[in-house]
Amino acid sequence: MQIITPLLVGFAVTQVSTLTTSAYLHRALAHKAVRFRPGLALFLRFFLWLTTGVKAREWAAVHRKHHAFTDEEADPHSPAQLGWMRVQLTNFWLYRRVANDPVTVEKWGRDLAPDKWDRWMFDRGPLGLLVSTVLLSLWLGWWQGPLAFGFHIVSYVMLSGAINAVGHTFGRRPFSNSATNLHWLAALTSGEGYHNNHHGLPTSARFGSKWSDFDAAWWLIKAADRCGLAEIRRLKSETVPG
Ligand SMILES: [Zn+2]
Ligand SMILES: [Zn+2]
Repeated sequence: MQIITPLLVGFAVTQVSTLTTSAYLHRALAHKAVRFRPGLALFLRFFLWLTTGVKAREWAAVHRKHHAFTDEEADPHSPAQLGWMRVQLTNFWLYRRVANDPVTVEKWGRDLAPDKWDRWMFDRGPLGLLVSTVLLSLWLGWWQGPLAFGFHIVSYVMLSGAINAVGHTFGRRPFSNSATNLHWLAALTSGEGYHNNHHGLPTSARFGSKWSDFDAAWWLIKAADRCGLAEIRRLKSETVPG
């Protein structure tokens, strides 16, 4: 098998994980801009568990702290404080340092107490990553599976870093905040690259402002809403300036 197949599969897995991260972790859980019906929420949580190993409560707590102290000293991952390259390359450790602090998680994630699914399954992040590596290996082969998985993890970590580093440094700023809008980053991160819009309207379910914007998580939310599988709670993107 050519090396290109595991790399393409790994990239596809990254796209699924950025989509579920943006739609579920970010827009639904951290900002409560959308509420998914329990069946679809469980489906999204399952894919998050398989592809990221992230504990939802920790992620939401770190992210809410970022919004509360954006580019100030207490921001968990501020390029204005640390330099964009440092945030780009060390975002994972910057995230873990704050996520490992129980006081921070309790303060910013108080409303997100673990449920029985978290206790039995989704809070066991390494198990999810192991299951996905085994599944990829059974599908692609003994070295191709781990290669696909490794490529996915590196891509996911680097794209998450890019949102926090590049997305607070380079690009357009229609709203007066330190975050930026970048079409190419939005295309790779299911809409997260419209980070300036998001900081301007943090509780809106939609990050893009035009129909042609690459806001894949918004497309998922809108489709789910039309099928009766989600309820859009806040939507203000039509007021994006410029
Ligand atoms: Zn930000
Ligand atoms: Zn946010």
